[in-house]
Amino acid sequence: MRRAIAISAQGLGSTSPNPPVGCVILDSEQRTVGEGYHVRKGESHAEVNALTAAGKLAEGGTAVVTLEPCNHYGRTPPCREALIAAKVARVLIAVMDPTSRGEGGAALLRRAGVEVEQEFLRGEALLVLGTWKASLNDGRPFITWIYEAGAEGKPNPNSAQGVIFEEVDSLRGSYDLVIGQEGCIEEGVPGGHGNDAFHLPNGALGNDVDEMVKVLNATGARSILLSGAAGQFSRIASAGMIDQVISYLPRTSPSWSPGKNAGRVTAIPDGFRLVEVARTASNVRLTGRRT
Ligand SMILES: [Zn+2]
Repeated sequence: MRRAIAISAQGLGSTSPNPPVGCVILDSEQRTVGEGYHVRKGESHAEVNALTAAGKLAEGGTAVVTLEPCNHYGRTPPCREALIAAKVARVLIAVMDPTSRGEGGAALLRRAGVEVEQEFLRGEALLVLGTWKASLNDGRPFITWIYEAGAEGKPNPNSAQGVIFEEVDSLRGSYDLVIGQEGCIEEGVPGGHGNDAFHLPNGALGNDVDEMVKVLNATGARSILLSGAAGQFSRIASAGMIDQVISYLPRTSPSWSPGKNAGRVTAIPDGFRLVEVARTASNVRLTGRRT
């Protein structure tokens, strides 16, 4: 399953609105005989890619899949049908699919005589599927905001902007869209969504936050990385639409006062809890999740 989770991450930033799923096929002797992951909407699902790679060796074997196999006819036939046709004896599932229309794939696999185990390493699989699942729950993309703490309006001699630029570059592949300082919108993985790339109408970043997020959701985006100064996305933040913040702390001296009338100096916004604190080569990085 950990191998399935690892390869599924190769679909992050390109599968939306579909989930990034990975699948490994073991033969009856528990040897890996095929693996596959989903790349983008309209293309084969992970199970079908893995079964194609395994061929006849899948018969009597086990399919290890990060998300419950689908049971609906969309752009491709349902995966549970492919698993049954390949005569797989057992299916291990990490996360059950909340979008199952009617009876899920697991129930139909069981009815066909396939042994099914579910919730296997679920928490670890959610490291990849978590943003997709959150976007389903909230009916909008999962939004991460990365910024330099306390930099609003004040030039900072120890600015972390260079570090933030590098961090955005290293994180962008896990997101569908990156919205930068000037409001320019880019795909996280350039060309990642193929011909179905998001078509954003002019003014998508307008003043009406609800409308903007609705528009972005309708394009199929399920995860967005915002990068900008503290004040820039305050409308989105105050609308309660930021799910995660990554904040770089400007360096301060061991004995430091912000001076008179500085007001309240904060680390991460109210309404978030710290989930990680790390020191990078030059700064402290805080990660917060919406409470
Ligand atoms: Zn499927």
